[in-house]
Amino acid sequence: MLGLMQDFPLLVHRVLDHAARWHGDTEVLSRSVEGPLHRITYREVNRRARALASAARARLGVASGTVIATMAWNTWRHLETWYGIMGVQGIVHTLNPRLFNEQLTYIINHAGDQWIFTDLTFVPLFEKLQPDLPQVKGFVIMTDAAHMPTTTLRNAICYEDLVAEGDPDFAWPDFDENTACGMCYTSGTTGHPKGVLYSHRSNVLHGLMCALCDAMAISSRDRIMPVVPMFHANAWSIAFSGPLSGAAMVMPGPKLDGASIYEMLTEGRVTITAAVPTVWLMLLQHLEKNPELKLPDLDRVVIGGSACPEAVMKAFVETYGSDVVHAWGMTEMSPIGSLSTATARMAALAPDERWTLKLKQGRPPFMVDMKITDDEGKTLPHDGKTFGRLKVKGPAIASSYFKGEGASAFDAEGWFDTGDVATIDEHGFMNITDRAKDVIKSGGEWISSIDLENIAVGCPGVLEAAAIGLPHPKWDERPLLVVVKKPGAEVTKKDVLGHLQGKVAKWWMPDDVAFVGEIPHTATGKISKLTLRAQFKDYRFPS
Ligand code: AMP
Repeated sequence: MLGLMQDFPLLVHRVLDHAARWHGDTEVLSRSVEGPLHRITYREVNRRARALASAARARLGVASGTVIATMAWNTWRHLETWYGIMGVQGIVHTLNPRLFNEQLTYIINHAGDQWIFTDLTFVPLFEKLQPDLPQVKGFVIMTDAAHMPTTTLRNAICYEDLVAEGDPDFAWPDFDENTACGMCYTSGTTGHPKGVLYSHRSNVLHGLMCALCDAMAISSRDRIMPVVPMFHANAWSIAFSGPLSGAAMVMPGPKLDGASIYEMLTEGRVTITAAVPTVWLMLLQHLEKNPELKLPDLDRVVIGGSACPEAVMKAFVETYGSDVVHAWGMTEMSPIGSLSTATARMAALAPDERWTLKLKQGRPPFMVDMKITDDEGKTLPHDGKTFGRLKVKGPAIASSYFKGEGASAFDAEGWFDTGDVATIDEHGFMNITDRAKDVIKSGGEWISSIDLENIAVGCPGVLEAAAIGLPHPKWDERPLLVVVKKPGAEVTKKDVLGHLQGKVAKWWMPDDVAFVGEIPHTATGKISKLTLRAQFKDYRFPS
């Protein structure tokens, strides 16, 4: 027998409608690409998103399944574009400007993008790329008439003109909640990037999940700033979890350096923010240089995307009085999979033990199921020591990639193999040991490159560290630690190894430390181990 409850499809524009109707005066503050700060309310964002939706239908021909790309910073216009396009069954494909041109061309053609919404910043880039994008009909430039550039882009339309043409009272259509609405490609460190296709249902459920108390605990009392770009892994749900909670939004726009982030944190009276560790490193460096600066409103910082060094987490808690939540996830998971929020059991632990747990990537919220297995698929125990392949299941986790690529990551029971290696402890805290391909295999045992890096970053004078396994005649691989010094710091190999001493097993100690000016990063801000291994391919350990 079926229940007798209403059918209420989980469509993302209902999220914006809720924000507009019940939190209509709540603000979306943005740093505009043109420069000045810009303020708008949810009520207005909703009307403009509806206007855009109707104009996108009429002028751009957006219909069910039409793929529309955006290459844009986090601003109110990008938010309107997401809701406007998704609300008429279009699919928003977010493009990461940090990808190489060949990768961009590949994914735009692979996804079948029909129109590209671009910020002013990227107009020159698309002028170069457009000959290789034959199926793109034209470009919407996300600015007003006063700032419209002279451009060779075909069929260039001014965003504000398009919104002005539309009907702000346009009625959203109703359709199946499983309809696709968003697309984001994985970073593709091996082979071509693969497309992840989100649905209305998965985005709404994931937004609700992220707002939960034991996740990001987002409420209408919050002012949330996604520093994580909307082009990276669905902006960690914040474009949905913020409005559905009625939280004010603070959108940092194109400037992501320490000083600019600080300015938006204070100007926006931000209570919760989220980004990758490198962003927080830049902010903390800015704060260190300007000791008079404080963060009185900032209640919590969500850090994820790559392992967060202890020094970064402790600086927020101990120096600035903000709580930190370490989160793990992937593009394929919409992206949040776990968060290191405290449990009731943790209250009984000593502060050091609590920190040990907080530094891990944490526990899955409802709607993420998680297990670790050996290579044969046998489930491994939650003892905090045994590491295995991390596999996940849930309604906001990909069931396959776009066009059926990468099928080997999905098994017959519906588990997705994350490609990460992890432990899970008796408190249910998951700890990423490494990407399966980055783990250092020494004498048949595994060394976690992440652990070595995190501890090394705690050494005074070290700005950033990366550990890679390099071939070794006896041990198969041994760790090399690559280090960037803080500007003006005097650090030696002996200092770094001395700092690691006693904090890791003896056989984990790096065989050498190489100092470099810069460590290469991927388009999503992670250390590019692939590039680093290529850079050090001729390196030989001192005998
Ligand atoms: P992306 O799809 O670009 O978000 O990348 C996902 C991958 O980033 C994961 O599979 C992990 O390897 C890594 N990752 C994300 N968050 C963390 C974290 N908190 N600690 C360690 N690795 C992480």
